[in-house]
Amino acid sequence: MKTYPNSLFLFLSLFLFSCQSGRGKQAVQTAQDSAAVTDNPKDTVKSVAADAKTILLRKQVPVLCYHQIRDWKASDSKRAHDDIIPPANFKEHIKMLADSGYHTILPDQLYDYLVYGKKLPAKPIMITFDDTDLDQYTVGASELKKHGFKGVFFIMTVSIGRPRYMSKAQIKELSDQGHVIASHTWNHKNFAQFTDEDWDIQIDKPTQTLEKITGKKVQYFAYPYGVFKAANLHKLKEHGFKAAFILSTPMDEVNPLYTIRRIIDPGHYTAKNLYNSLQKSFNKKKIATATAAVK
Ligand SMILES: [Zn+2]
Repeated sequence: MKTYPNSLFLFLSLFLFSCQSGRGKQAVQTAQDSAAVTDNPKDTVKSVAADAKTILLRKQVPVLCYHQIRDWKASDSKRAHDDIIPPANFKEHIKMLADSGYHTILPDQLYDYLVYGKKLPAKPIMITFDDTDLDQYTVGASELKKHGFKGVFFIMTVSIGRPRYMSKAQIKELSDQGHVIASHTWNHKNFAQFTDEDWDIQIDKPTQTLEKITGKKVQYFAYPYGVFKAANLHKLKEHGFKAAFILSTPMDEVNPLYTIRRIIDPGHYTAKNLYNSLQKSFNKKKIATATAAVK
C-alpha cells in the first residue's frame, strides 16, 4: 500500500509526458501536411481541397510540350526548330524517358495529386502535344504506344480535318485508346486578348466540338503561346475547366491550377539535354510566382 502513491505518481508522470510528446509529434506532422507533403501514407484521397499555397509548394511534376514531329526543311527558321522535333530525335527522347523509369500520367491524376495529395506513380511525367498536327497521331501516338505511355492532345479545333492536321476520326481514336483530348482554343487566339464573345468562340464552342467527337468531357486547356491573363483565370473554372497549362513561365499565385508549367523539348536537344532540362526545370520545391509580371 505504501508504494501505491509512488506508482501512481510515476504512472501519471509517464502518462502526461507521453501525451505531450505525442501531441508535439502530431503538431509537427500537421505542419508538414499543410506544407506540401505529397504522399498520404494510406493512399487515401483527402476530401478537403488544398489551397493555392499548398498547391504551389508541392513538388512539381514534369510536363513536356511538343508541336510538330517532322524532319527540318530548308525553309524552317532557326527559331522554328524549337517547335519542330525530327522523328528520330523524338523517338530517342521518348525511349530515354522509358529507360529512365518515367511513367506517364494524365491530367486527372495530376489534378488529384495537386488538389488532394493523391499518390502518383514513381517518376511521373506528362507528355502533351499542341496544335492538332497529324504527325502527333502518326509518329507521336505510335511511339508512345511502344512504351505503354499515354499523352494529352491540346486541339485547336479550326484545324480539324485540314491537310496535315488530324481528322475527327483520328482524334476519336486517340481518345478511345486512353489518351486525353483537351482544348487549345478555336484558332489559337491569344488568351490575354480575349473579348467577351471569345469565351463562346474560343472556349465553349471548341469544348462542345471536342466533346461531340470523343463522347467525353473536356476539362483541360492549354494557352496558345503559353500566354495567360491572371485576371481571367477564374473564368476558365466557370467554363468547366479543372486546370490549364502554360509554358515555363512562373505560376500564378492565386490560381496555380490554371497555370501548370510545361517545358518544350526543342528539336535540337539530345536525349541527355532533355534529361538534364527535366531535372533543372521541375526540381525546385517552389518556383517563384509573378502574378504582377503576367502580360
Ligand atoms: Zn499552340
